[in-house]
Amino acid sequence: MTKNTNNLFYNGKRQKATSGKTFSNINPATNRVISEIESASANDVERAIESAKEGFAVWSKMSGTERSRILKKAADLLRERNKELAEIEVMDTGKPISEAIEVDVLSGADAIEYFAGIAPTIRGEHYDLGNSFAFTRREPLGVCAGIGAWNYPIQIACWKSGPALACGNSMVFKPAELSPQSAVFLAGIYKEAGLPDGVFNVVQGDAEVGKMLTHHPDIRKVSLTGEVETGKKVMAAAAKTLKHVTLELGGKSPIIICEDANIDEAVNGAMIGNFYTQGEICSNGTRVYVAESIKKEFLGKLIEKTRRLIIGDPTKMETQVGALISQEHLEKVMGYIEIGIKEGAKLHLGGKRFQSHKQAELNKGFFVEPTIFETDNEEARIVKEEIFGPVMTVLTFKTEEEAIKKANDTVYGLAAGVFTNNLQRAHRIVNQLEAGICWINNYNITPVEVPFGPYKQSGFGKENGLATIEEYTQLKTVYVEMDKIDSPY
Ligand code: NDP
Repeated sequence: MTKNTNNLFYNGKRQKATSGKTFSNINPATNRVISEIESASANDVERAIESAKEGFAVWSKMSGTERSRILKKAADLLRERNKELAEIEVMDTGKPISEAIEVDVLSGADAIEYFAGIAPTIRGEHYDLGNSFAFTRREPLGVCAGIGAWNYPIQIACWKSGPALACGNSMVFKPAELSPQSAVFLAGIYKEAGLPDGVFNVVQGDAEVGKMLTHHPDIRKVSLTGEVETGKKVMAAAAKTLKHVTLELGGKSPIIICEDANIDEAVNGAMIGNFYTQGEICSNGTRVYVAESIKKEFLGKLIEKTRRLIIGDPTKMETQVGALISQEHLEKVMGYIEIGIKEGAKLHLGGKRFQSHKQAELNKGFFVEPTIFETDNEEARIVKEEIFGPVMTVLTFKTEEEAIKKANDTVYGLAAGVFTNNLQRAHRIVNQLEAGICWINNYNITPVEVPFGPYKQSGFGKENGLATIEEYTQLKTVYVEMDKIDSPY
């Protein structure tokens, strides 16, 4: 165990916390303590916000091109340090290195680079009103708070800070307590790229630290990635001072596999949508609706391919399924597996904690075998509730209308997928799905150019894509009188 200090970042450098409180940061693959993280006090949060206000005063006055140059450099540095940062993410989250090196850091760099490119293009409009005229200015909001979940720590920090900073805002970011490592490295990279002090700040700690941000009158916007219940609390807190809010919350997304689908492709899609990052992905398609006529073939191929997944040491390149984030989360996922069995769902594969015969130290880790259930009980808890682990439930349908009705029968609305070779059917189904992002013949693809964001109780607001600029700016209208006032008095 290493004693890790200076985990806060404000005024352009790492800072010690003054709370005297620490929390243990655990490696999920071994259940060993990596480091002790210092938790921010109310005073530290106050200082970080002060730092962000000072940073905002400088940053918001810079031109889009100047901001762009610095952000682009930060994206380049992230790519250069991909391996080092991916290793940090693996230790912190338990996910396989093959994923972290391919996706986590690079998708973060993509977002910063994309919004760096947009920064110089942010502008208002001119309105010709005869003699007089008006124009709009697209202005930053001020100090924004980013609050992250633990499944994609550095990606989330980049997806929030990239557009926020490109628009001229400053940010105080709080990573999840379970994955505190990478955010301060990102802050260091921004600094190295030339970001003025105070523009990106990090505070560490639990929900109490999150609340200090969501209640603070000087924070103008909160962007949260987290659970639905947390989203409701954050929105209620933000309402007290009418902050702007973006909520990227949980899901229980459907994948509809029609009888004319390419079954091998549908199997690949369902596996990506359930077992990538050991199932800890918000947009996962955990309700897999398969046309009854192809269920047998689909299930046969799915089980056969899933059985071959390599589960174990996340630091090895060949590993495909890593460890869940914590003991508590492992118990939650195992609890849902028990519930599924008790509810009468048929367990086709998995359902157990993974035990390694080669590496004893992994047996203290939080591994769960990829699990496949089949049921026709639409009211089962494993069909209704977000599990956030490697647990897929296969259901069936007879008609298109039935599939759409079942797919939409959820409080969530994050994502959905359709597999079919019939173009009209694909669009007809997608147009009726209540989800913020839909994939046709693929799943969980999130290119930075494309807006990603939820419907219904999965939240609101977008990340990625041009739409995100509206999330981090406000429009000021300026009317310019060119004539005498036409006074009624
Ligand atoms: P949580 O909601 O538990 O936590 C999210 C963040 O909010 C953490 O930093 C947490 O702090 C903080 N927090 C908790 N309570 C409050 C509060 N009252 N006020 C302010 N901040 C608070 O989510 P998880 O970290 O467990 O992440 C998993 C969830 O995130 C899943 O539901 C998943 O679907 C969702 N998610 C959504 C995504 C999307 O884009 N839609 C993407 C990824 C995940 P602490 O560190 O103490 O927990």
